[in-house]
Amino acid sequence: MSAFESFPLGQPGFVNNILDRAAHLRTKDEKLFALESDPRTRAYVVHRDSLVVRKEGDASRALLTIDEALKFGANPGTIFLGLRDGVAVFGMGISQPAVEKLMNRDDVAVSELRGMAMQGLVPPNELSAIAMAKSMVNWHQRHSYCANCGQRTAMKEGGWKRECPGCKAEHFPRTDPVVIMLVTHGDKCLLGRAQRFLPGMYSCLAGFVEAAETIEDAVRREVFEEAGIRCTDVSYYMTQPWPYPSSLMIGCAARALNEDIVVDRTELEDARWFDRDEARLMITRKHPDGLAGPHPFAIAHHLLGRWVHGGGNGGK
Ligand SMILES: [Zn+2]
Repeated sequence: MSAFESFPLGQPGFVNNILDRAAHLRTKDEKLFALESDPRTRAYVVHRDSLVVRKEGDASRALLTIDEALKFGANPGTIFLGLRDGVAVFGMGISQPAVEKLMNRDDVAVSELRGMAMQGLVPPNELSAIAMAKSMVNWHQRHSYCANCGQRTAMKEGGWKRECPGCKAEHFPRTDPVVIMLVTHGDKCLLGRAQRFLPGMYSCLAGFVEAAETIEDAVRREVFEEAGIRCTDVSYYMTQPWPYPSSLMIGCAARALNEDIVVDRTELEDARWFDRDEARLMITRKHPDGLAGPHPFAIAHHLLGRWVHGGGNGGK
């Protein structure tokens, strides 16, 4: 399956959630304990940006039995992700030494999630649940101690809360909003490239929403800071969870009021206007100069694709 088939327009990676989060079960410790021992129960095991998968011939399977996960060395603490067709699915972490022990085995692989997803090695409809596992496991690993008093905190409610035994503070996993926007001016759109991008690749501008800032203000501020362009008519398109470690990409469109770009070289290597035909060639990877748009896995591809096909601020 090609990347265009795996992630058709309007469906980037990490958006197709197949789990019922069944939040009412999170406070039912006995029920969760019973589900952990149910042989039908499955788990995703994540380590930093990687996923532990069972290799079966040429195929690989990310959804492991709890028994498999523990035999592979996963940490026993489980995070309840939800139910899939009535079957419980948990997220589990694994330590670096345990991962190193897996490296020599033929029946297991520990592979970087984004690369696997882009190559179609993980079914697209499992990516949202895996993103949830990854964000949650990473959160627990980085929040073992109370930010209020410094004591070690304990996991509660199926992993959706940590509680401090000292000051009784409750800590919840957070999601960090990021705006990502396609800015257009007539029949042209503004794309930039960061130094870390693959050669020739351009994408939408993006940045974190700051404290007490609206999405609209964040879009206008980021575009002005990074490219010196003033914007108006900010509109929302769609969102994409981005588990690095726990962002929510808020996809927007905006209309530029000026054309003279001033690139902030600390943020971007380049920013340019591209006309619609050129943008079309970039997202289909047919540009004669080898310029390319973002991968269909990323929301930026969908913002750009919608405009290329006449949507968003397309007509203007
Ligand atoms: Zn505390």
